Amino acid sequence: MDGYFASRLHHQLRGQVRHFAESEVRPLIPAMEAARSVHRDLSRHIARQGWLGATISRDHGGMDVGHLGKTIIIEELSRVSAAMGAMVQASQLGAAKIVHFGSDEQKKTWLPAIAAGECLPTIAVTEPESGGHVLGMSATAVRDGDDYLLNGRKVYVGNSHIGDLHGIVVRTGPGSKGLTAFLVEADRPGLRVGDQKPTMGLHGFGFGELLLHDCRVPAANRLGDEGDGLAVAYSSSVLYGRANLTAVSLGIHRAVLEETTRFCEERHRYGKPLHELPSVKLKLGQIQSRLMTARLAAYHAVHLLDAGLPCDAELMNAKLVNVESALDSARDAMEIHAAAGLFTDRPIERYLRDAHHIFAPAGTSDIQLLRLAEVALGTSKGQWSERLADVVRMEPAL
Ligand SMILES: Cc1cc2nc3c(=O)[nH]c(=O)nc-3n(C[C@H](O)[C@H](O)[C@H](O)COP(=O)(O)OP(=O)(O)OC[C@H]3O[C@@H](n4cnc5c(N)ncnc54)[C@H](O)[C@@H]3O)c2cc1C
Repeated sequence: MDGYFASRLHHQLRGQVRHFAESEVRPLIPAMEAARSVHRDLSRHIARQGWLGATISRDHGGMDVGHLGKTIIIEELSRVSAAMGAMVQASQLGAAKIVHFGSDEQKKTWLPAIAAGECLPTIAVTEPESGGHVLGMSATAVRDGDDYLLNGRKVYVGNSHIGDLHGIVVRTGPGSKGLTAFLVEADRPGLRVGDQKPTMGLHGFGFGELLLHDCRVPAANRLGDEGDGLAVAYSSSVLYGRANLTAVSLGIHRAVLEETTRFCEERHRYGKPLHELPSVKLKLGQIQSRLMTARLAAYHAVHLLDAGLPCDAELMNAKLVNVESALDSARDAMEIHAAAGLFTDRPIERYLRDAHHIFAPAGTSDIQLLRLAEVALGTSKGQWSERLADVVRMEPAL
């Protein structure tokens, strides 16, 4: 179905990731579900496949497969384990800010290591008192000679517990031009990772706290100029984040359909497969329809992103449609499974729990709707995809 967008090499990439996910990830899911904590070894193993470098150029050791290639990688991992799809997408966000805002020196130092899976980067923007209101952040960096001193607290940072290099956006001044981003190595004195807290789903992935207390960071670790922090945060969230989380939801959605059709074949009622019941068959048709629409929205948006074309509205819509329709389909699937769906020996309840996790990051569905209403009313405040087209455009090597 994705032939309209994808090349032969995209199909090969999909096949490779699917094979890996089935053989290396699926067998570990029961252990991840039982432990309900970050799976460091598997995360490292996945990183070593080179997938964190999806949008890193070949010059820096990356795959250079563009946003569509990145979507396929995340989708296929998430079809088996949304936790591992989320792990990869979070570090791809971390890589993006260096690709787009890093100095030559920073790129040379970090990108080859990220592409090889030896360094897991993160992006830390959210704070407890500001949430999605990025400009409401209060963590600070104050210049001190050749260094900056960073103080504050970041929350919900994807890969906080396994990250090697945190990209932290803080205040260096007032207003929208007062945000600045820094690369902070995980072992730098003054940086502490908060305790791991259990979550509803995405077991195996972690999104926790980073605490900064007089953390001394050389000015050479600043990403871009003072004042570039908002663009770093938005390019990560609005352009990469929406696309990546769309892909996680798409993978979950696909798994929901596959698992539910399998269940309907196996389970018999009134002497016939369950899907012979009209109400069940209608629900299956509904899930299939939602998935096709969601996939189209997802691939269309990243196709525009790869081409460097304006696509903020398409990315918002892709995230909205994919998150909401995966949740709707997971609920329908639970109803088709009835009591059987409540037992954890089947994956369907995991899909529903995991799908809920994709709702908040890179903008809740209400936020996407509000921004889409502004598009309809012609009151949008400009497009980040247009402003950052030169840094985001990819000419994939596929
Ligand atoms: C799985 C996961 C991974 C994440 N990864 C990262 C990461 O790697 N780095 C990072 O920095 N953060 C990350 N986050 C945090 C994520 O970006 C935030 O959850 C998001 O910005 C929303 O913040 P919040 O959850 O505090 O909700 P809030 O922003 O406080 O929102 C609370 C409620 O208010 C509504 N609301 C808020 N503002 C408005 C408004 N202007 N108009 C109308 N309604 C509004 C929301 O829709 C929501 O219903 C992650 C979160 C999750 C769940």
